Amino acid sequence: MLELTEVNGIGSKAIIALNKLSIYSVEKLVTYYPFRYNILKRSNLLELLQDDNVVIDGVIESKPNIFFFAKHKDKMTFKIKTDNMILSIIIYNRGYLKNKLLIGNIITVIGKYDKLHNIIVANDIKLSPLAEIPAIEPIYHANYSITSNKIHNYIVKALKKDFELIDYIPDKYVQKYNFIGKKDAVMIAHNPTNMNSLNKALNRLKYEELFLFMIKINYLKLNNNFQFGLKRNTDRVDIDRFINDLSFTLTADQLNCVNDVYNDLVNEKRMNRLIQGDVGSGKTIVAIIAMYINYLSGYQSALMAPTEILTKQHYENINNLFFKYGIRVALLTGNLKLKEKKQIYEKLNTGEIDVIVGTHALFTDDVKYHNLGLVITDEQHRFGVNQRANLKNKGLVPDILYMSATPIPRTYALTIYGDMDVSSIKTMPNGRKPVITYLKKDNEIKDVLNMMLEQLKNNHQIYVIAPLIEESDKIDLENINELYKKMDRAFGKFYKVGILHGKMEANEKENVMNQFASNEIQILVSTTVIEVGVDVKNATMMVIFDSYRFGLSAIHQLRGRVGRNDLQSYCILISNKNTERLKILTETNDGFKISEEDFKLRGSGDLFGVRQSGDMNFQIANIKNDYTILLSAKNDSDEYLKNIDLYNDIKSNQIKEILYCSNALD
Ligand code: ADP
Ligand code: MG
Repeated sequence: MLELTEVNGIGSKAIIALNKLSIYSVEKLVTYYPFRYNILKRSNLLELLQDDNVVIDGVIESKPNIFFFAKHKDKMTFKIKTDNMILSIIIYNRGYLKNKLLIGNIITVIGKYDKLHNIIVANDIKLSPLAEIPAIEPIYHANYSITSNKIHNYIVKALKKDFELIDYIPDKYVQKYNFIGKKDAVMIAHNPTNMNSLNKALNRLKYEELFLFMIKINYLKLNNNFQFGLKRNTDRVDIDRFINDLSFTLTADQLNCVNDVYNDLVNEKRMNRLIQGDVGSGKTIVAIIAMYINYLSGYQSALMAPTEILTKQHYENINNLFFKYGIRVALLTGNLKLKEKKQIYEKLNTGEIDVIVGTHALFTDDVKYHNLGLVITDEQHRFGVNQRANLKNKGLVPDILYMSATPIPRTYALTIYGDMDVSSIKTMPNGRKPVITYLKKDNEIKDVLNMMLEQLKNNHQIYVIAPLIEESDKIDLENINELYKKMDRAFGKFYKVGILHGKMEANEKENVMNQFASNEIQILVSTTVIEVGVDVKNATMMVIFDSYRFGLSAIHQLRGRVGRNDLQSYCILISNKNTERLKILTETNDGFKISEEDFKLRGSGDLFGVRQSGDMNFQIANIKNDYTILLSAKNDSDEYLKNIDLYNDIKSNQIKEILYCSNALD
């Protein structure tokens, strides 16, 4: 590693700023890639429309005027002449350039074109004609202490130093794709001269990143196959008896999942399985059967869910089923009193609890298990690699089962879940009718209220969802309170309206949920806190306001809260915007289709509507846009890994080193 101080022109201030971007070495700096490129191509003003982006050079015609309107805030205006046209330029906070903007100089202006008034509102000015400016300008993620331009300048300086970059792509694939060298690619990424060579360079860098990622995933999976977990000797007959005692018959898909899980559990290979199935498809019962198998072999089980409401519901469900078998079930959440918590810790430690349900409180340092054999996580709560390491540190090698209602597009299945086995539940339990979804405009609210009234008259219940982002700190409760009042005005005379959001105390929330579950509340105005898992069978309608604010998958999850019995249920999406996008929800109930669509529209970022584990943060690749590269990288890394012991050159040794390190993490 070469220290940043070795680079001339990078002083202590710059180092502080770079450190804030997690850049601590020359190698890190030169691999801090642009996140996009500006193509500086001269615009033809005649072809542009109002408010189009514009890049133009011209001669300065008038002395700049500056107007200061606050500390460090200024507005500068001047005129340039170009294509025999006079244009007014407005630019903010560049007052310091004033003395360099002399009449007669040629400059380049980049900004938005107000064609009507012949004004360019500029976001950048370059003090030279376009011909002298690189046509492709790299743009870096910057922050308040350092600009993209500065970052670029430092990188250019650093590139002159003699630094080491390991080139991981095996020779075989360098030849296959005719890749350029890594250092050359890095140079081009920062100083591109034409699109052709830039694309070549970027593809090479992305391939390398994805190749390493996929080879790690493949290696994890391979290792999993050799990882010894618990070997149980539960008799299948006992499981079948339990299944026959249920109040319903399992669907074929559920049975297949049970078989997969059963085989994993009686096998000494450690289970690392995902049960994937749309909301309401009945994943929980599979998890319960898994816990039963585990119990019969004498081990403890833990089920973790993301919210307290959900844990409570699971707890009651599980307890109802397990009670008559003498299985001891307990609930552990963050809001228990210390004394209650301590009691539970004690019993977990001595083995007096067989099944524990809870939030992530289940895996804090205070919790010591007697003999934890199975960990189940519900709804998108994937353990990061580090959390899995945590389990291991506690001396546990429990089998792991994930349940997710988020259908995962193929791409993701390849990557984020690439190290797991997957079982799917594709059909809904019998008797379920698909939810009918309508799209309504804001001004059709009367229709909506009428539809609601109809449901209420039939003694059914309704969710009304306010578009609040629960994770935001600046939670604005006005929206939901407003909506609550509206609903109360419309229906309050005959029906009870309740309100639920994330900023309420846990016991308040619980209270409201209980009242809704027991039909004391008929209309529940809520944020997305109800999104996951909540199960009130008598609720047959969901109304979502400003639904354009949600991702398609998120809405699909939400509407899974209704249609939970054999009654026809409805979902009404109210939106004045993006109705084209929302339309797919009225056309299909297939979560896979919807997630693919979401994926196309929104990319990877908020696909799951939840935080992703850090595993997916790539430096240069982007899973959505670089899917074809990902596929090549996957196939090549598969092939390479199979033969890795045959290779004994520098590159394969470096790759092996990475693999052994990533194994240590698991
Ligand atoms: P999810 O997959 O969303 O977690 P749940 O496991 O909560 O779905 O199941 C939804 C509802 O369907 C629950 O009330 C559950 O008891 C019920 N259920 C599950 N499987 C069946 C089945 N095979 N037949 C009838 N009802 C079922
Ligand atoms: Mg569930």
